[in-house]
Amino acid sequence: MDETKKKILVVEDERNIANLLSYHVKKAGYDCDVAYDGKTGLDMALEGGYDLLLLDIMLPRMTGFEICEQVRMKSQVPIIFVTAREEDKDKILGLETGADDYVTKPFSFTELMARVRANIRRSSGEVVRRPVQKSGVLRVGGLEIDRERYAVTKDGEPVELSKKDYDLILFLAENLGTAFTREELLEKVWGYDGYFGDIRTVDVTVSRIRKKIEQDPARPEYLMTKRGVGYYLNGR
Ligand code: CA
Repeated sequence: MDETKKKILVVEDERNIANLLSYHVKKAGYDCDVAYDGKTGLDMALEGGYDLLLLDIMLPRMTGFEICEQVRMKSQVPIIFVTAREEDKDKILGLETGADDYVTKPFSFTELMARVRANIRRSSGEVVRRPVQKSGVLRVGGLEIDRERYAVTKDGEPVELSKKDYDLILFLAENLGTAFTREELLEKVWGYDGYFGDIRTVDVTVSRIRKKIEQDPARPEYLMTKRGVGYYLNGR
């Protein structure tokens, strides 16, 4: 096995989809392992040193959500959900398990692999898109963003954020008061270019962050919606 190759784990119980995913992942130049049930998938994800996980949601023995939750306790490996169209979108929107992204079946493999590449590039630090000032603490109201420890506190209390939550809040804090469209955020925070991103990914992440930092997520004071534009962080 080529040691420099990135390794991807596919957890999918439908054999034909698993085979297709594995085929496209390998064709894109990655190594690929497949697990056909959730429990095996979790064990492999925790042991295997993967660079990215592609998770189905409805799986025997353990759901993709449960896998994601368990993995997130130990690792920041990029996780993309591959979901069936009939599965409830609200479930995804309410997702607090810390996934980085999701695609909905049926999807194009071109699109999926673009997202895989973007997530791997970003997590391996190949994409440098930070502004010049990299260290130090940013303060926004009661929020403190510590760029050396990658940590956020609110009113002195630590806030548990996934890597993507942190990336988004840091980006908005570094551009305080400026509203960005969902497309712009996909490009700048997720590293997606062109039309491959799904803007709902941004909404999911925003709603997840709001639940963690806002007193009342329905009436945000920090992570604001600018009607007709997108999102910004309120400088106050
Ligand atoms: Ca399934």
